[in-house]
Amino acid sequence: MTDETHLEDLRLEVRSWLDSNAPKGWRESYKAMSHAEFAQAQRDWFQTLVKGGYAVPHWPAEWPGGGRSLAEQKVIYEEMARADTPRLLLSFVSTYHAASTFFECGTEQQKARYLPRILEGETWCQGFSEPNAGSDLASLKTKAERVVRDGREVYVVNGQKVWSTMAQYADKCLLLVRTSSEGVKQAGITFLLMDMKAKGVSVRPINQIQGDQEFCEMFLDDVEVPVEDRVGDENRGWAVSQATLSSERGLTLMELTYKLRGALRYVAGLIRANGREEDAGVLRDFGQLVARVDSACAIADQFLLNRINGVERVGDASIVKNTYSRVLREYSLLGLRLGGIDEQYRAPITFGDLTTDNWMADFMNSYAWTIAGGSEEVQRNIISERMLEMQREPKHWVL
Ligand SMILES: Cc1cc2nc3c(=O)[nH]c(=O)nc-3n(C[C@H](O)[C@H](O)[C@H](O)COP(=O)(O)OP(=O)(O)OC[C@H]3O[C@@H](n4cnc5c(N)ncnc54)[C@H](O)[C@@H]3O)c2cc1C
Repeated sequence: MTDETHLEDLRLEVRSWLDSNAPKGWRESYKAMSHAEFAQAQRDWFQTLVKGGYAVPHWPAEWPGGGRSLAEQKVIYEEMARADTPRLLLSFVSTYHAASTFFECGTEQQKARYLPRILEGETWCQGFSEPNAGSDLASLKTKAERVVRDGREVYVVNGQKVWSTMAQYADKCLLLVRTSSEGVKQAGITFLLMDMKAKGVSVRPINQIQGDQEFCEMFLDDVEVPVEDRVGDENRGWAVSQATLSSERGLTLMELTYKLRGALRYVAGLIRANGREEDAGVLRDFGQLVARVDSACAIADQFLLNRINGVERVGDASIVKNTYSRVLREYSLLGLRLGGIDEQYRAPITFGDLTTDNWMADFMNSYAWTIAGGSEEVQRNIISERMLEMQREPKHWVL
């Protein structure tokens, strides 16, 4: 069988499975849900995907549904976009960030312990950012001291984290802590796996302008983390964190970019439903948006091709990320304009997806993507300094 025939067969198989299994009417039902109901709906959809074998196509072959080539993953994402399935907001940190960290840097015991639990529905959050450590993440101050308590070695953690997505529902946390102040900032960081139910962990959801509580503050007060729940060596956590972050900027964003193409059908339907097919302004803007989404997908394709061929460049993932966040804004702005003044007054309450059709919320949320996973400016720095080898910014500009 040729590669193309195989991919076409896979496409039909996924499409047929989605016809029977994709949640129907979720754009409407999500809007009426409480936070708890939203979390349950997300868990149900994830378990459906696990059973169908489509939850973790990017994991190695020994895992159910894993072992898909990048070209196969693309087909699966494209079909999910076509079927307009909800984004897995509750599990993406687990299946991408946590899993990539374990695959690249975890011990065999950590993989055996944590990866099956992710498929059973255990969820992870990411505790990297702090009030004074975002773009300059290596400045983080949350402190961990290694001590012996009740006959076992533990790290005792004290500090504060912020912007942790879905931490209010998480069972575990990928945590960066400072274990040394000697030498350069990066050299004193350690990567821990923290139980969110451990004594001393307090989580406070942050109320966002559009009505969501997508992310949280976390306060850590004498929290004990067993030494065996450290990934990599002590003071070598910076390198581990790069494995976590590259999955966030690359594959996650690629999936979302393809999802936007699926969402265009939805916008076309709205234009028809609102009787705006003759509106030259709307058609012009929609045409421009289609072209922009297509070019974003072409950029994502190039990123994927570079990965497949093993020639991914530093900065490729940053280009995907910056392109996606710009196009997402244009997409939600068009929706907002389509809805007119009524749409702008509509109560912005929505949970969890970036393209919910609550346009006011989606538009405000689109700005979040210019910051999440590393801000737009910082991505531009990566592209200019590390990809194009342009002059580095003077040190004193770094915040
Ligand atoms: C939706 C969302 C989800 C998130 N989820 C998580 C999560 O789950 N876990 C987690 O740990 N964090 C999370 N974050 C935090 C995110 O990683 C940080 O917000 C981001 O790294 C920026 O850090 P900061 O907010 O502290 O802004 P700052 O670093 O204070 O930056 C402020 C401004 O200065 C600019 N700036 C900073 N340095 C430079 C420079 N060198 N050159 C030019 N401009 C610069 C930035 O671009 C930005 O505009 C999330 C953020 C968002 C928006």
